[in-house]
Amino acid sequence: MTRPGKIPARSLILLAIASLSLAATRAVIAAVHAPTMPPAQALQLLLDGNQRFVAGKPEHPNQTPARRAEVAKGQHPFAAVLACSDSRTPPEVIFDRGLGDIFTVRVAGNVADKVVIESLDYSVKHLGVRVVMVLGHRRCGAVIAAVEGHEGTADQDVGPMLSELRPAVAESKGMPGDPVENAVRENVILVMKNLESSTELAAMVKAGDLKIVGGIYDLDTGTIEMLKE
Ligand SMILES: [Zn+2]
Repeated sequence: MTRPGKIPARSLILLAIASLSLAATRAVIAAVHAPTMPPAQALQLLLDGNQRFVAGKPEHPNQTPARRAEVAKGQHPFAAVLACSDSRTPPEVIFDRGLGDIFTVRVAGNVADKVVIESLDYSVKHLGVRVVMVLGHRRCGAVIAAVEGHEGTADQDVGPMLSELRPAVAESKGMPGDPVENAVRENVILVMKNLESSTELAAMVKAGDLKIVGGIYDLDTGTIEMLKE
């Protein structure tokens, strides 16, 4: 029989397990790098830079030898951007930024396979990034190829890039408007969802510690249409 005031051994074990799991949770949170800056501020920096670029008044910040020396010691980018490899969409140029500012992943069609997701994940957990932008662009050649090749090729091996774009093409099929522009948009939305499928990132988004945003770059005007969060 248990004496009054004495905690049964079983409860002590449960308490020990509970405090261990609390310690583990704390360890996970502590392992995530401190933010370079809050998500809203980081997004604003990107959008401000884009406005300067659009207006033809770029400041080319952080491109001096002094900045090069500063970031050689370590990087703390404030944003991550997943963009298309298209030569007309370089994030550092269209957001008017410099060295050490943007963690950039570029791949044709701005698709997110496992390697891309892991790269973006790394920038959040280890470099302090708190805004991730998925940036599609109008008249994307990769998306055009996926849309044009969609009919009658369902069983063919079209290669990893077009396979990644297939869900966006399928999702946007039959929508009113231009099929390519619709697929570009749908692809950005699906990639954002894909990124949020990481449990840890989803928890950070929910807590307001991370923003995952989507945009469509206009090749003609240089502007970015932000998709609804
Ligand atoms: Zn493209």
